[in-house]
Amino acid sequence: MNDTRPMIEVRGARKFFGPLEVLKGIDFSVARGQIVAVIGPSGSGKSTLLRSINHLETLDGGEVWLDGVQVNQKLDRRSFERHINGVRQQMGMVFQHFNLFPHLSVAENITIAPIKLKGMAKAEARALALKMLDKVGLADKIDAFPARLSGGQKQRVAIARALAMQPKVMLFDEATSALDPELVDEVNLVMKQLASEHMTMVIVTHEMRFAAEVADRVIFMADGAVVEEGSPAELFRNPKQERTRSFLKKFL
Ligand code: ADP
Ligand code: MG
Repeated sequence: MNDTRPMIEVRGARKFFGPLEVLKGIDFSVARGQIVAVIGPSGSGKSTLLRSINHLETLDGGEVWLDGVQVNQKLDRRSFERHINGVRQQMGMVFQHFNLFPHLSVAENITIAPIKLKGMAKAEARALALKMLDKVGLADKIDAFPARLSGGQKQRVAIARALAMQPKVMLFDEATSALDPELVDEVNLVMKQLASEHMTMVIVTHEMRFAAEVADRVIFMADGAVVEEGSPAELFRNPKQERTRSFLKKFL
């Protein structure tokens, strides 16, 4: 049955940067519609793991699967390029630093991929952009340029842009870390709304309260390994590992 197959599956993921082993055999899977929060100290490999899922980093060992298709499969160069472009269209990724094109309007930022990669007609792409902007509460900014937006608005545009590709999963890497504190909630609210619509999401975050509210499962990483995982209630209220306890103490 398609519905019981994990949406994302990572098996034995290993990654080195030179002599440094950054991922030491990570296993984890995300069910369809599930929200997984990944927490852990800076440098523990969270971003590398997320980037490995859509092959922005190439693993040295292990496998990544998206909805039953192996992402990091062996193919000749040209076939792999075609394959990975197809895979990436199915994964929306949102970074700490928005990465909007500054010389393009909000509409152009959102429509460029649907037009170029999916061959969508301009008018149809603009209608889609408007729909996605409406979702993130920014329909009135469709013709604005990024420089005129607040950080929270930029990040919401980045989310709308990812959603316009109608991805199967959304990956968030500290989407609110670069924001002024008063702008964090508006972005978190959009993520919560996506969660309520059963979008499959992996959320790397330093905000324990948000993780506890939004996630079905929390994964604690340290030193390139999964130390502990569980429901938010288990992991936050009753951590089993000393390493998890001492990490969480810093957030009390
Ligand atoms: P986190 O997101 O949990 O803070 P990262 O995945 O960014 O951790 O980094 C894990 C480790 O890998 C860190 O020690 C970091 O310095 C190192 N690292 C990350 N990217 C690179 C890179 N491109 N080259 C060399 N080292 C890297
Ligand atoms: Mg990181």
